[in-house]
Amino acid sequence: MKVLKFGGTSVGSAERLRRVGTLLPANEPIIVILSAMSGTTNALLEISELAISGKMLDAIEKTKQLEDKHLKTADELFETKIYRKRGEEFVSNLFQRVLHKLIDGFGQAESKEVVAIGEQLSAGLFHMLLTEQGKRAAYIPALEYMRVDKDAEPDFFYIEQNLKRLLHANPFANIYVTEGFICRNSLGQIDNLGRGGSDYTAAIVGNAVHASEVQIWTDIDGVHNNDPRYVDNTSPLRQLSYDEAAELAYFGAKILHPLTIQPCRVKNIPVILKNTLNPSDEGTIITSTSTTSGIKAIAAKDGITAINIRSSRMLLAHGFLKKIFEVFDTYKTAVDMITTSEVSVSLTIDNATHLNEIVNAIERFAQVEVERNQTIVCVVGDFLATHKGYAAKVFDCLREVPIRMISYGGSKNNITFLVDSHYKVQALKMLQQLFHNFSVSKPKHQPLDA
Ligand code: ASP
Ligand code: MG
Repeated sequence: MKVLKFGGTSVGSAERLRRVGTLLPANEPIIVILSAMSGTTNALLEISELAISGKMLDAIEKTKQLEDKHLKTADELFETKIYRKRGEEFVSNLFQRVLHKLIDGFGQAESKEVVAIGEQLSAGLFHMLLTEQGKRAAYIPALEYMRVDKDAEPDFFYIEQNLKRLLHANPFANIYVTEGFICRNSLGQIDNLGRGGSDYTAAIVGNAVHASEVQIWTDIDGVHNNDPRYVDNTSPLRQLSYDEAAELAYFGAKILHPLTIQPCRVKNIPVILKNTLNPSDEGTIITSTSTTSGIKAIAAKDGITAINIRSSRMLLAHGFLKKIFEVFDTYKTAVDMITTSEVSVSLTIDNATHLNEIVNAIERFAQVEVERNQTIVCVVGDFLATHKGYAAKVFDCLREVPIRMISYGGSKNNITFLVDSHYKVQALKMLQQLFHNFSVSKPKHQPLDA
C-alpha cells in the first residue's frame, strides 16, 4: 500500500484535481490524502476570526465567496449532469453548516469545525470525480480514525485500529480518499494537526498501514539545496536521510511539515517529494541512508527570539541549567538552539507567546536580555567528525555577516547559527558559494539509488 498526499496548489482547481486523478498508480491499493484547495484554509480562518470578533456580515459575505469558488469547481469538475448536481449539493450542504454555525454563536470549537470543511470539500469532490470515472474509490472520513491525545500527539493505537477497520469495510476499493490536516481531539471534538498538517496526516497514515512509501506531492521539484525565493541557481536534492530532512524541515525549508519524518522513520518508510506540475521529475527521496557526506543544503527560519541569561552564581554551580529549563517546561515553550559559557546561557525560541512570563520567572534568579527578529540559518549535511574542514568552509563564507550564536556538534547533521534577520538573505547568498567553490556533494548529479 502506498500513501500519496497532494497539497493545496495540487488540488487548487477543477483542472488540477483531474490531473491528480491521472497521477495515481493503477496497479496497487493506495490511500490518497488531500489538502484543502489553495487559499481555502486561510479564508476559513479569516471567516472564523470575523465571526469571533462579531463582524457577522463580513463573515457571511466571505463564506459566500468561498462557496462560489467551490461551486464553480464542482461545475467544471464533472462530465455528467448528475455528478455536477451531486457535487453542487455536496458543496452547498457543507456551506449551509458553516452559515448555521455563524448564526448560532461562535467560539474556538466552532472555528475548528469551520476550518475542517476545507479538506472535507476537496476530498469529497475528488472522491466523486473518481467515482464518476468508474474507478474503485472509497471515501474514508479522517474524523472517523484520525485522533490526537490530550497532549495533541497522534493516538497511534486508535488510529491504526480504526483506519484498518474502515479499509476492511471497503474491500472492493483500491483507491481510498481521505482528508489531510483534520482530526478529533481527546474529547472527540473536531480539531486539526496545525498549519501544513496534511503532510503529517500522510506520515501518520503511512505508519498505521505500514505503507511501502509515502509520496508528498507539491508544486516544486523536491527539496532545494537553498531557498529559491532568495537565492539564484539552487538545485533540487535527489536523496536525503531522515535526519537531514528533519533538520531541514524544522529549520525553515518550507517543503515539508517538520513532524512528517518521525512516523515514517520508525517504520523505515521512504518519503518521496514530487512535483504535480512536473511529474516526470524524480523529486527527492528521503530514506535512512545518506548517500554522500558533506554539505547538502541550507535553510533559514525567521521569527526567532534569542534569550541571554547571565548569572555569576552559575560559575561552577550545578543545577543552574535545570532551573532554566524548568521555566521553559512550565510554559510549554520549546528551545531550539542553546550555547553556554561559564557565566551565561543563550538560547532561542520560535514561539514567543509566553515570553513575558518566561522572562519574569528567570529574572528571579538571573539577569535576562531578549533580542527579537533573529533568524536561524542551518547548514545541513553529513558532517562526520572525521571529515575535516566543514565548519571552516561554512564560516569562511560568512566573513561579512555578524553571527550571534553558533551550534555545532549536537548532531552530525547540522551547523546552525543565529543572525539578525536583517542579514538572512546575505547569509543564504554567501553560503550558496559552498556548492560552487568547494569540492562538496553536487546534489544535481546524485544517483537516486546509490
Ligand atoms: N489546509 C491546511 C493548511 O493550509 C493543511 C495543509 O494544507 O497541509 O494549513
Ligand atoms: Mg504544505
